[in-house]
Amino acid sequence: MADPTRPPADRSQPSPDPRPAPVAPITVREFQDLIFERYYPTDSKRGAAGTFLLFMEEVGELATSLHECGPGKTPTPAQRANLGEEFVDVFAWLATLANIHGVDLTAELKKYTTPGKVTGTKD
Ligand SMILES: [Mg+2]
Repeated sequence: MADPTRPPADRSQPSPDPRPAPVAPITVREFQDLIFERYYPTDSKRGAAGTFLLFMEEVGELATSLHECGPGKTPTPAQRANLGEEFVDVFAWLATLANIHGVDLTAELKKYTTPGKVTGTKD
């Protein structure tokens, strides 16, 4: 079944699906709740502004990792493993920001799961 959260694939260039098989099923809600339960007291004390800076720090780490693993590079196994960690670090801090602001990421996913709500692509 097609993933409704992803834009339509470009069928003009055949390529294998690079996504790894999931290893530990967890819903977005479960993950956001886990982040809330573990970190909300500290996160709420730090506040939105400080948390946003930490989120952006993780985005920077992801950018570095994307560069290290980018086209024409030969990443080490450790660099390749770090790429996945940086993606999930960004996701965790995004969940943290959502918790601070009372945003339910699962509910907001309807923007991408409702057919026809998000259309078009960016080049
Ligand atoms: Mg990181």
